[in-house]
Amino acid sequence: MKASMPQELPNTDLVLRRALETSGQRFTEQRAAVYRFLAATDQHPTADEVFLHVRGHVPGISLATVYKSLETLVGCGLAVKLAYADGSARYDGRTDPHHHVRCLSCGRVSDIPASVPDEAVASLREATQGFRVTGFRLELAGYCRECDSVATARA
Ligand SMILES: [Zn+2]
Ligand SMILES: [Zn+2]
Repeated sequence: MKASMPQELPNTDLVLRRALETSGQRFTEQRAAVYRFLAATDQHPTADEVFLHVRGHVPGISLATVYKSLETLVGCGLAVKLAYADGSARYDGRTDPHHHVRCLSCGRVSDIPASVPDEAVASLREATQGFRVTGFRLELAGYCRECDSVATARA
């Protein structure tokens, strides 16, 4: 016979529960499923991609609910929304300062496992002439390896 220990919540659920409570929001299974996926991936998914994954775990969840859940996560500081000029958006479960590469062909966004030297940031800040800088984000744009090799093969 199995001991009836209370089922231990995965850590992401605890983090989510606290963040939601702090901002006066309710913990729901939909929000939890969205956050579990986002916290575990480094793919910077679109809302559609999150939906495609999460609907396999939460039957009946809608794209609208996924979208609202993502916005809730952004609102309580658990995710970052990466919005682009063409109106598209991706979501990042990493909220610590880090930088991205973005493919102009397939739209894929990846983390760069390196940081910008403090001196480089300081010299940019000096050039702003009095702008109070509170942070920065760097994105390198171009073509990922897959897209680049397709383009090269076509040429
Ligand atoms: Zn690409
Ligand atoms: Zn990222």
